[in-house]
Amino acid sequence: MRKLPLIIAAILVLVLAFIPLFRQQNPVRQQEGGNKIIIVYDNKASSGFKSSWGFAALVKFKNHTILFDTGGDGEILLDNMKKLGIDPKSIRYIFLSHIHGDHTGGLWAILRENPNVTVFLPNIFPDNFKERIHGFGAKVVEIDEPKEILEGIYTTGIMFPVGEQSLILKTSKGLIVVTGCSHPGIVRIVERAENITGENAYLVVGGFHLFGVPEKEVRAIATSLKRLGVQKIMPCHCTGSRAERIFAEEFEVEYVECGVGKTVSW
Ligand SMILES: [Zn+2]
Ligand SMILES: [Zn+2]
Repeated sequence: MRKLPLIIAAILVLVLAFIPLFRQQNPVRQQEGGNKIIIVYDNKASSGFKSSWGFAALVKFKNHTILFDTGGDGEILLDNMKKLGIDPKSIRYIFLSHIHGDHTGGLWAILRENPNVTVFLPNIFPDNFKERIHGFGAKVVEIDEPKEILEGIYTTGIMFPVGEQSLILKTSKGLIVVTGCSHPGIVRIVERAENITGENAYLVVGGFHLFGVPEKEVRAIATSLKRLGVQKIMPCHCTGSRAERIFAEEFEVEYVECGVGKTVSW
């Protein structure tokens, strides 16, 4: 019986030793705590911000800060970012979806503020565009095929027409797909994202390019996206107000309104 206090002490030591392990039970969820996408440039804006034709979003994922596209006008982009408390110097990567000016026009203003970045762009961009980036001292990574560009972060590779790449984040809830204009078609892009990673899409954010597309077709797109596993949707930029209304009906509470100043997290 004299051994009893010793046994109790041993049990206590063991329990105390394991407490830190229990605390780290779910490292993935902890790690994803600060992850979010903030819209910094869009055709629509919350009050206090400037709206303009184009798209840019700040992606915060796994301690990486990526600017997805740059909008059309650098001054508007920097102004919106300032109001959101985003320091251009906090950006390490810029991901350009495609060459159109409403997605690339703001790049130079960002590079003037912070040339210490790596720019991922479709390899079909003209040489003088790439040289101009090098002129700021920034790095260029040319994209052709689908690939993992940072840990858990992929590009779809360039898709035609136009030669557009979309960004894929591999999260614990499924894939997050960020698109610029979706010129290749939003369903095709999501299908490719799933083929590359072997996982289901969870959230799709960006321009879907559905101006003037008949209601029946937009509903069919919503159905196809749901079939691909998409649970949450944030249509922006060139999606068009009619298509946005239809997506809002189709996805109900999982529809997230876009516009400068809006944020989506997971
Ligand atoms: Zn566009
Ligand atoms: Zn475009």
